[in-house]
Amino acid sequence: MSRYELLVRGGTLVVPYLGTIRADLATRNGKVAAIADEIDPSEASTVLDATGKLVFPGAVDAHFHLGIYRPLSVDAAEETRSSLVGGATTVLSYFRTGQHYLNKTGPYATIFPEVLSAVAGNAWTDYGFHLAPMDTAQVHEIPDLVGEAGVSSFKYYMFYKGFNLSADSRDAKAFTMSDEYDLGHLYQLMEAVAAANQSTDRRVSLSLHCEQAELMRLFIDRVRAAGDPQTLKAYSDARPPLTERVAIGEATTLARATNCAVNLLHLSSGEALAAAREARAAMPGVDMRFEVTLHHLCLNHDELDAQGGLGAKVNPPIRSHADTEALWASVLDGTVGWVASDHACCLESEKGDELWPALPGFGGTALLYPILLSEGMHKRGLSPTRVAELVSANPARAYGLDGRKGNLLVGYDADLAVIDPDLEQEVTTDLLLSGQDHCPFEGRKVRGWPVATILRGQITYQNGAVTGPPRGTFVAR
Ligand SMILES: [Zn+2]
Repeated sequence: MSRYELLVRGGTLVVPYLGTIRADLATRNGKVAAIADEIDPSEASTVLDATGKLVFPGAVDAHFHLGIYRPLSVDAAEETRSSLVGGATTVLSYFRTGQHYLNKTGPYATIFPEVLSAVAGNAWTDYGFHLAPMDTAQVHEIPDLVGEAGVSSFKYYMFYKGFNLSADSRDAKAFTMSDEYDLGHLYQLMEAVAAANQSTDRRVSLSLHCEQAELMRLFIDRVRAAGDPQTLKAYSDARPPLTERVAIGEATTLARATNCAVNLLHLSSGEALAAAREARAAMPGVDMRFEVTLHHLCLNHDELDAQGGLGAKVNPPIRSHADTEALWASVLDGTVGWVASDHACCLESEKGDELWPALPGFGGTALLYPILLSEGMHKRGLSPTRVAELVSANPARAYGLDGRKGNLLVGYDADLAVIDPDLEQEVTTDLLLSGQDHCPFEGRKVRGWPVATILRGQITYQNGAVTGPPRGTFVAR
């Protein structure tokens, strides 16, 4: 019997918060067991030649939507497979009761086990869940969810207050299947999350989707009255950056009042970033972390509208080129904590050619390392170490995975993305191994792709294909 299971030989390790080192890495029992300048290949049962490659910690895709529009089991199988293509080995998926997902409400004590059993055995990556308490009874479940169910992060949607506007309906109660989903609900939710955070060593936090509902109502009506153009630019005008600014102000003010740790999700605009920076400066005692998505970094409505189609409809909307540059600047200067995909598999037939009924969201998990390396490292000078922090180490720390995921240290899970930094490929729908039948990133030339992705010491993706079976397990946080 060999001393090690897998030896990754000849590569350059990218170690978050430390730097790059030329070293071999060997695994045992699914964990990193040895790092040295040279490890004898005869000591390992499998040897992977990583000469000329960068060996990153597997990405932790911290914003995902398994099962939002398709059965959980199908999304788990097809969308975490897509994660492997981009070097992600853990996904943290949002789940809530109400319309979409399981299309019902009730206690998480009974619904969450249903979610877990639907995903079990189907996922190619390890996975965890953020849950959204939609009513007061679910808020009261937070101590049990943190203490027993392994859930240490929660979510609130600022824009479901009063109306739901994602599917051209203004009936929020039918959508959330709850009664009073408003700032009062948010306040009690923050109190409960803050109390749970005090009760444990892990960080227990609340993630916020920041768009302001009453302003959206006005601007949507204005866009429709002004000719109702069926474009992504019109969608951005209907939910303008001002709605993000106001929602960030509301959310962070309540976070300070309750001492709740918060994550401001998918900041999409220069204005949202400015508001987030101002809030952080004004409230230095509040633990607030900022997320941006691949699509808000890389896509703009002018280019997409020139191509036509509504495949990139998403909330918050795709913004202008100036916004993408503001987002990159905030990634480079350290304002942003992590980059995620906000992956939600949404078929072309669910988009259609009408703006308002088109379902929001699309996939991007397969591009996590590739886009950060291509657009961040090659084009903008981001170091590989910072890239690893942005997609792996920082989200792992924020969401209670530190010590297990997000780094290349002895004792950590041996989750690795072995990346050829100079491999250039054009993005096609087929390349991404997702169930989604279109891709708003299609046609982009991207430089820097995984040639192998390793989950807990097992090669699960190599040279464009997965190697089964799916071995992902639930990670309690
Ligand atoms: Zn999302």
